Amino acid sequence: MLRDFIVALSLSNLWFLDVWRPFLVRHFTSYPYYHWKANPAPILLATMLDVLVLSAVLWLAISIARRPGKESLLKIARFVFVLIFLLVAVNILVLAVRNPPLRPILSSVIKRPKTLFEWGGINTAYSWLSVLAVLLGGSGLAVALHSLIFRRQWLIKMSVTFLLITSPFILITFAQAGTQWLQYRTGEAFRESAAPRFSGEGRTSRRVLWLIFDELDLRLAFTDRPTSLELPVFDQLRQESIFAQNAYPPGTDTETSIPALINGQLVSRINRTTPNELMLTLQSNKQVVGWSTQPNVFSRAREINLNSGLVGWYHPYCRIIGNSLTECSWEAASLLVQRNSQISDLIAHSNQVSLLRTMTSVARSLLLHELVRIVFPGEDPSIWRQHIVEEFKSIHQKSLEAAVDPALHLIFIHYPIPHPPGLYNRSLKEFSFSSQSGYLDNLALADRVLRELRDEMEKAQLWDSTTVLISSDHSLRADLWRQHPFWDPSFTNEDPIVRDNMRDVRVPFILKLAGEKQGLEYEPAFNAVLSSDLILALLSGKLASKEQVVEWLGRERLQKGFHYPDAMK
Ligand SMILES: [Zn+2]
Repeated sequence: MLRDFIVALSLSNLWFLDVWRPFLVRHFTSYPYYHWKANPAPILLATMLDVLVLSAVLWLAISIARRPGKESLLKIARFVFVLIFLLVAVNILVLAVRNPPLRPILSSVIKRPKTLFEWGGINTAYSWLSVLAVLLGGSGLAVALHSLIFRRQWLIKMSVTFLLITSPFILITFAQAGTQWLQYRTGEAFRESAAPRFSGEGRTSRRVLWLIFDELDLRLAFTDRPTSLELPVFDQLRQESIFAQNAYPPGTDTETSIPALINGQLVSRINRTTPNELMLTLQSNKQVVGWSTQPNVFSRAREINLNSGLVGWYHPYCRIIGNSLTECSWEAASLLVQRNSQISDLIAHSNQVSLLRTMTSVARSLLLHELVRIVFPGEDPSIWRQHIVEEFKSIHQKSLEAAVDPALHLIFIHYPIPHPPGLYNRSLKEFSFSSQSGYLDNLALADRVLRELRDEMEKAQLWDSTTVLISSDHSLRADLWRQHPFWDPSFTNEDPIVRDNMRDVRVPFILKLAGEKQGLEYEPAFNAVLSSDLILALLSGKLASKEQVVEWLGRERLQKGFHYPDAMK
């Protein structure tokens, strides 16, 4: 009896492997920070309950079938049991083959089988091990399928042994899920805050729209643009703006650059401690401080009674600095790690659903997803892209609204493009879920975004009177993406001009001043970390003309004594 129950529990636990994966991973602190939009506690509880319910059903079924005089029922029950077991086994095999470290090794072996026979040190050993593991898994599965028809008794014995051996895994999943459930059950760490709105609209007509396009590359977008790409809206804006030729971002990644831009202080290291705090090591004095505890451009704008709005991606802004913002919304980078879009949706909306519904959703998403993935394995990239397009659309919609809200004096928008993967087809001018979409398409999408923002603001008669700053958190990191599944040819068939791009750390810095129609090119180098000081000077009216801004930049870029991060010298 007890043995039956342990077997049923072990089988159910493995059936839910795909849900356990995103929660019970190595990065205990980074996942809740970046990838969990809402509190995951309900999903963890629902999954634990799902596992228990499924185990109880399986155990009850086998107990009934074991009663005397039910031989035919016992046969059916055993057949169903091995079928479920085989499905779980196929799933584990599919997961193993499609994920690091196996996937990249196997795809390189498939591309160049010769590598197996040329000794290249430890890598060849890994390749052989991977191939052997897949062969072993595949043969095991073939033997199992054969046994399903000809040696079912033997197969049942082997399955039961396997499940008993893997049963300690139950303790691991339940201990981890239980600990995290206890830690997050109140939802406190996922609470988003907002500041009250200053009334008295029109206190000042000065407005700033600050746009960060993630991974916008100066060279590919402007100075060395491929002929196959047109960016008419950016080009028009460049003519009307102060266009910096040598602006450096505060860091080489989103984690350090964005807090540095918003706080106006260089950050040399970050550490994710909880879902609602990011610890920053300040470059100036090596002090470690919480992002939420520091003054930022929005809190400083509040000191002069100005309302700020933010629409963001990647950082859980509203949990950390929401109390400096009148309007705040963000999207998590959920699918960067989790390809099961239904589970990602659950993660995003877990706080709005009842426990029972979460339980059925978890169970259903898993069932449908497994079958779809096994029958159409090639569909994954498209499902992934669809989800990111949804996130992008939500960010863009909220940005369009914020840009024309006259009560907001400072609007900060962090777009998830042109960061890979490609979401757009620039010839057809529409969203694309195909592996043919790449970085250049996303640049065209950024141009379209700017067109739509400008159109809306012109309609609302706010474009001319708003100062617009466009920049990025870092340039294109082709060297990084060449190692990443994003640029696996089956996922993104990237243009060679982009793929072979040498990293140039400079980013665009385009400042269109309110009321200004004539731009200029600004050559001296500076670090864009001064953006927030510049924006506050503009909002407070200390700066207005482009001559004043140029003079300010010339002074601040030297006086501030900002050093570029070592990697960027
Ligand atoms: Zn970034």
